[in-house]
Amino acid sequence: MTLDPDVTAVLTIDLGALRRNYRALKSVVGSAECAAVVKADGYGIGMEVAVKALLLEGCRIFFVATLEEARQLRALSADSLIYVLNGLFPGTAHLFREISARPVLCSLTEIEEWAMFCQDCLKRLPAAIHIDTGMNRLGVSVQDVDQLAGRSDLFEAFNFCHVMSHLACADTPGSEKNAVQLELFQSLRAKLPNCSASIANSAGVLLGKQYHLDLVRTGIALYGGRSLCRGPNPMKAVVRLDGRIIQVRMGQEGETVGYGASRTLGRPTRIATVALGYGDGFSRLLGVSDTIPASVAYVGEHPVPLLGRVSMDLITLDVTDVPEELVVRGGFVELMGPHIDIDEIAVRSRTICYEVLTNLGSRYTRIYLGL
Ligand SMILES: *Cc1c(COP(=O)(O)O)cnc(C)c1O
Repeated sequence: MTLDPDVTAVLTIDLGALRRNYRALKSVVGSAECAAVVKADGYGIGMEVAVKALLLEGCRIFFVATLEEARQLRALSADSLIYVLNGLFPGTAHLFREISARPVLCSLTEIEEWAMFCQDCLKRLPAAIHIDTGMNRLGVSVQDVDQLAGRSDLFEAFNFCHVMSHLACADTPGSEKNAVQLELFQSLRAKLPNCSASIANSAGVLLGKQYHLDLVRTGIALYGGRSLCRGPNPMKAVVRLDGRIIQVRMGQEGETVGYGASRTLGRPTRIATVALGYGDGFSRLLGVSDTIPASVAYVGEHPVPLLGRVSMDLITLDVTDVPEELVVRGGFVELMGPHIDIDEIAVRSRTICYEVLTNLGSRYTRIYLGL
């Protein structure tokens, strides 16, 4: 692999690992369908490459958040089933039909709108229904399910092909809320016409067989992120980030580094300045002051702590303890990878790996392995 000489940071995306993760999830869920969630540009790794890799593994059911994402996805696959989680905005039903996308209807009003549209075009078009069993975020409310159950006119008008709900605490296997939501979902779906059902995201898959139902909606686990709060993460890492050194300099004891002079050097320090920053989604929270412990990058096996604040386009690292020949202008530094994974970056950024991935910057040179 030859890189352009002006590369600043390299994001390596291992599509072989993505495919292995899909296969692993599929084998865990056995006879249930394993659908892939590819919203937010495939969790930041690129929807197009993610979808191509997943199609090669036989995945044919996809979930996205928005209609525009569904359009992009339809251009990549003419025959896959595409569900749009955000449902219908008023007057958008015909746009779903145009690309054969299936809205996940989230209220009685949306269901009525879809049914009306189907009657107008004399076609029982498919759509899913989302029931809110405890998130209080999106979906038909529990109270409205009874009303919906009596509306056979609606179910005659469209093809009710899937019913789903979403778990609030799936990442915490010990949470009682999981079983409460599952039970509520089972009792509510029993009031509606029979169709395939799902409640599990990635974490839900790992909660156990009773959560798999007919289909699972896997996102983060495909991309190598941790889905359960505790215990080992069984998935393979998909992304690796290497930044490039643009300058190496010496700082003296008592001098400061970076904006706000937030970090005072306690010893003569060799500083490597690397060409990436919060403008690339590398969180400012990873920067350090005299009071907050340093996040760490790696030069080979050598840990190199961040010094000072993260700037828009630059970070500074303490490379004093690394053999000099390993730290050269134009050289690379591991910022996410085998030594420091996205979950550790997430903890250090006070967020979750989902946000680390979806923040991955547009300035990175992207290399795809296994394409
Ligand atoms: C994003 C999303 C998923 C995927 O969740 P992961 O935790 O990434 O597996 C599943 N279902 C719904 C409703 C979602 O919004």
